[in-house]
Amino acid sequence: MFEKVLIANRGEIALRIHRACREMGIKTVAVHSTADAAAMHVRLADEAVCIGPPSAKDSYLNKAAILSAATITGADAIHPGYGFLSENADFAEMVEDHGFVFIGPSPAHIRLMGDKVTAKKAAIESGLPVVPGSPGAVDSVEEAFEVAKETGYPVLIKASAGGGGRGMKVANSEKELEEAWRTARSEALAAFGNAEVYMEKYLGNPRHIEIQILADNHGNVVHLGERDCSLQRRHQKVLEEAPSPALNAAERARIGEVACAAMRTLGYRNAGTIEFLYENGEFFFIEMNTRLQVEHPITEAITGLDLVREQLRIAAGAPLGYGQQDVHFTGHAIECRINAENPETFRPCPGTVGDYHPPGGLGVRVDSGLFAGATVPPHYDSMIAKLIVHGNSRNECLMRLRRALGEFVVGGIETTIPLHQRLVENTDFQNGDYDIRWLEKTMLNL
Ligand code: ADP
Repeated sequence: MFEKVLIANRGEIALRIHRACREMGIKTVAVHSTADAAAMHVRLADEAVCIGPPSAKDSYLNKAAILSAATITGADAIHPGYGFLSENADFAEMVEDHGFVFIGPSPAHIRLMGDKVTAKKAAIESGLPVVPGSPGAVDSVEEAFEVAKETGYPVLIKASAGGGGRGMKVANSEKELEEAWRTARSEALAAFGNAEVYMEKYLGNPRHIEIQILADNHGNVVHLGERDCSLQRRHQKVLEEAPSPALNAAERARIGEVACAAMRTLGYRNAGTIEFLYENGEFFFIEMNTRLQVEHPITEAITGLDLVREQLRIAAGAPLGYGQQDVHFTGHAIECRINAENPETFRPCPGTVGDYHPPGGLGVRVDSGLFAGATVPPHYDSMIAKLIVHGNSRNECLMRLRRALGEFVVGGIETTIPLHQRLVENTDFQNGDYDIRWLEKTMLNL
């Protein structure tokens, strides 16, 4: 096992990774920007190295500074968390070239899945059902019209390099297609430095259902069931639950097996998530995330597995040590992403935290770097805490969630806790009756 792991991230996920390492007797190195000098992950780590000024470009995305920090501290491995450099194949390659272990898949798999056009081709070749659309990139308006004729309207134009819900444009008819194609390309170029786009049929009322997989270096692959991430705002997840209220055990086993078989074909290793849209009983692959996901704790809650620990074990070369028949699902879990934002306008609200009281009690977990007096800097993502609640049944989970949200105190800044409180009182949500558009349509009046 590793002796020292460098955590190339910040906030709750840096703390999350530190906790797994500490339990396994592995020393941790925190890296941080000047804005995060007093952050909790920095305080708790065994060692800390300042890697640059607040701007992420100069700190958390600064590959050379991170590698230097790993060298001077004598770390054996680097965990990238999510976001920042976690899906940067060049970084993973540099990490390996410098003699450190990258805690994640191979650079080749990161590269393959990081480009959505090559990812979709790989998905098709490995037997995953995909959303009907263009066979590859759509490089001309003429081609866009051809594809739309095949799939029918509405169509979605998506950036090959897209992520974070950005770079998508819908065209409802032939009239809208040319402009949508052009806008998508210029937005993709501005956001990702790559104008390439592809096209998909725009599904009407799907749910977003994703399968968590784990694969070791010895050919063993298991799935840990699904997460339903249909509650979204601007294609960004707001609340996730596991299992999905829309799937039964047979459907779960079927799509789980399809996902595992695809990972075997690809020779994938470490943790990964295969994202699908699910409509009328059918699954359609949209993308694969080659990293730990924000919503991984709900899977941990229902399986009892520590996913970061599994990532560390796999990266160190250990076999999984269990098979699919050993993975059992217990009860129901929900995660609320709590952002430092106004709960109605979603305007970011960085600042200094006043009173802080996280909820507790049976089945309640809070992953957060917050404390009374902590600063929420304006330079990064606005998610400041995750509330994860587990119950024996979905109903018990909902009652517990209502109770826990009511206890949560974050003073001094605005948060989205009130939005989650409104959500938990909503009958459609209580019945599990929602799709990817429901939140915006019903609760946010967009
Ligand atoms: P990103 O990498 O930017 O998150 P994804 O491909 O994962 O992009 O899609 C994000 C979200 O956008 C999905 O969860 C879904 O809500 C919506 N979406 C993506 N593709 C389609 C599609 N073909 N039809 C309808 N909605 C889609």
